[in-house]
Amino acid sequence: MDSEYRQKMNLTILGATGSIGRSTLDVVARHPDRYRVYALAAHRNDQAMAELCLRFAPRYAVLVDEAAARRLRVRLARAGSATDVLSGPDALVEVAAAAEVEAVMAAIVGAAGLEAAIAAARAGKRILLANKEALVMAGQVFLSACRTGGAIVLPIDSEHNAVYQCLPGGRADGPGIRRIVLTASGGPFRSASREQMARATPDEACAHPNWSMGRKISVDSATMMNKGLELIEAHYLFGLPHTRLAVVVHPQSIVHSLVEYADGSMLAQLGNPDMRTPIAHALAYPDRIDSGVTPLDLARIGRLDFEEPDVQRFPCLGLALEALRAGGGAPCVLNAANEIAVDAFLTLRIGFAEIAVLNASVLQALGSRPAGADVGAVLALDAESRRRAIAELERIAA
Ligand code: NAD
Ligand code: MG
Repeated sequence: MDSEYRQKMNLTILGATGSIGRSTLDVVARHPDRYRVYALAAHRNDQAMAELCLRFAPRYAVLVDEAAARRLRVRLARAGSATDVLSGPDALVEVAAAAEVEAVMAAIVGAAGLEAAIAAARAGKRILLANKEALVMAGQVFLSACRTGGAIVLPIDSEHNAVYQCLPGGRADGPGIRRIVLTASGGPFRSASREQMARATPDEACAHPNWSMGRKISVDSATMMNKGLELIEAHYLFGLPHTRLAVVVHPQSIVHSLVEYADGSMLAQLGNPDMRTPIAHALAYPDRIDSGVTPLDLARIGRLDFEEPDVQRFPCLGLALEALRAGGGAPCVLNAANEIAVDAFLTLRIGFAEIAVLNASVLQALGSRPAGADVGAVLALDAESRRRAIAELERIAA
């Protein structure tokens, strides 16, 4: 074993208290010889953060919310912890770009994670990218920051991680690569009627059959907006046009995605639906490490099914395709509208079917805007789209 291998990798985990953050820490805890936690960051759950700090003893803990950060300081001081607590959005950028850090898990949900992800890109980190919204809203800006900084991006989204594993060197620009096929579970409403979906409650929408995830992505899976965002994510990550990206519904979530080659081969990555597999892959790349995931027992699973997606029942998937085809600022506009719409659904201000209505109307109004040329312009378009979505929401909810 060479000495480089023995050196520990310093990690910053953005979104540490969330579903991906916790799965990451589960993998990290299995390999204390390989990884050291430099910083943990989250929004405002001081109790959860205090527990993680006592267990992983990071150099820094960030809670964006100031009052929550003050409570965390008290908790940690009482427990005799040496972790320093930082607060505010600038602290996210600081711990993402710090010189001591080699890899950054970008697992904040939504646009809130964008600036820290860009900071990690500019600072040339290994970016473990879960926060697909950042890529959807700012694809070119993010990729150009990666090029300037020399950052490498390893996808955490299970589909994109699967594709990465099925491509030579993770790149889709080589000869003979025809198409990328993303699998979709179909979510909790895969076989529900429109009427059933229109009556769906937040808890029903968040009851995913195969994956346990945060509430925002769970609703996105139920509307299939998640798969739409993932098509846009694949377009940026792998540089393929929409004509070479496809979706197939696969209810068992065992085949995580596929790459089709010119010779008729299709390469797929399979595994039990557990995010610790892509997380372990990206943490250890190009090595392989134990993730704690139960090995796949194909005979017990017995069969794998595939079917066409239904854009009539899942209009959000169609809207994302429209935004991908339109390009420019359309993905950013749609992402912002969708964050407002999902939040309104989760807080019972609109019904499930209205998520697509709201998204369609904002995309229609602002979808022809050009893409932001820098982070400031992206955030301005995001803010304008949110204002538009809120105005539309007031109209729909009235
Ligand atoms: P989650 O809701 O469980 O966790 C979100 C995390 O982000 C929390 O730690 C929260 O404190 C933090 N956060 C939220 N708002 C913040 C803010 N304003 N500032 C700082 N931190 C903030 O979500 P999740 O399911 O872990 O998803 C995280 C990201 O990973 C999303 O972009 C999602 O699309 C993506 N993803 C998740 C899964 C999954 O299985 N959960 C799979 C693929 C991709
Ligand atoms: Mg996914």
